Amino acid sequence: MKRIAVNGFGTIGKRLADAVDAQPDMEVSGVTKTRPNYEADLAVERGYDLYAATEAGLEGLGDMAEGSVEELLVESDLVFDCSPTGIGARNRGLYEDAGIAAVYQGGEPHDVAGFSFNAAVNFDEAVGRDAARVVSCNTTGLCRSLFPLVEAFGVGDVSVTLVRRGGDPKQTDRGPINAIVPSLGIPSHHGPDVAKVIPGLDVHSMAVKVPTTLMHLHAVSLQLESRASRSDVLDVWETAPRVMQVDGGRGIGSTAELCELGRDMLRPRYDLWELALWKDSVTVEGDRLSFFQGVHQESIVVPENIDAARALLEMADSEYSTRTTDDALGVIR
Ligand code: NAD
Repeated sequence: MKRIAVNGFGTIGKRLADAVDAQPDMEVSGVTKTRPNYEADLAVERGYDLYAATEAGLEGLGDMAEGSVEELLVESDLVFDCSPTGIGARNRGLYEDAGIAAVYQGGEPHDVAGFSFNAAVNFDEAVGRDAARVVSCNTTGLCRSLFPLVEAFGVGDVSVTLVRRGGDPKQTDRGPINAIVPSLGIPSHHGPDVAKVIPGLDVHSMAVKVPTTLMHLHAVSLQLESRASRSDVLDVWETAPRVMQVDGGRGIGSTAELCELGRDMLRPRYDLWELALWKDSVTVEGDRLSFFQGVHQESIVVPENIDAARALLEMADSEYSTRTTDDALGVIR
């Protein structure tokens, strides 16, 4: 049983703690918070040992805390760094001092681990490494749909427009409220980030932020290098891991209905770990494939993190890990 620490029990961290808790071969050694709030209470209610992420946090948490993050790390085999964007790189020294493996999140730069991870693409290359970075929600979604096509048909240029949610549902300080905000730096970082995982894939990306908290939506257009029909493409995605085909004709025509689906499936926090691909949008014109896909930003990276932990700790091969992760969570096949 491997012992996994979660440093930063926020949006991603609390999902990862619950995902670890659901696995048969790992357990939560503890989670950290910087201050006492409802999430710290939740951690304790769930039975996770709570530690302080910072020195100030040790004072603020008082008796709630079992100790410092350093004390947690020495009792752990691996840490998921789930601290706010940019803090993970600053935490790296902590993990190196403790001599444990670390999985960082997509808000950190590639250099934080020197290796960017997606389970379907490069699990084997992660085996036995000290660190890996699970790429962002958007990049994970793009890797899930694009890599099976690369393998099946070969893919030339890819053009993606990302319609990004303004903030997560709990982020009251994020916007826009009444605007569409283009990312004026073109390409956006997402395309180059995909190429960190799938080297050589030419993805040109542009992004806009919109007033929604539910999900991201991608409009993708790409060149297929060998001849394929619409149904050939759908067949490839049918067996691709963690890809769920949804049907606008059956009433799932928007991100709102996708989230309703998560509710109706009685998913925890209405999470959708799968990439949602609108099959009625899939169109092949000559060698050009176009489609829409939806990414539930708060949960799509959860299965990838669990697999990254198994790879770094040399616990399993890719197939066993993916199946175990998905069975434990209830991911649709
Ligand atoms: P969050 O703000 O919800 O949670 C961050 C947690 O870290 C909070 O509990 C905070 O108290 C804690 N924290 C603050 N300072 C810390 C420190 N010094 N050390 C450890 N913990 C500290 O953030 P999040 O949305 O969970 O994002 C975490 C990471 O995951 C970021 O890199 C982000 O880019 C990435 N990510 C986020 C999403 C998303 O949709 N929220 C999706 C994919 C990846």
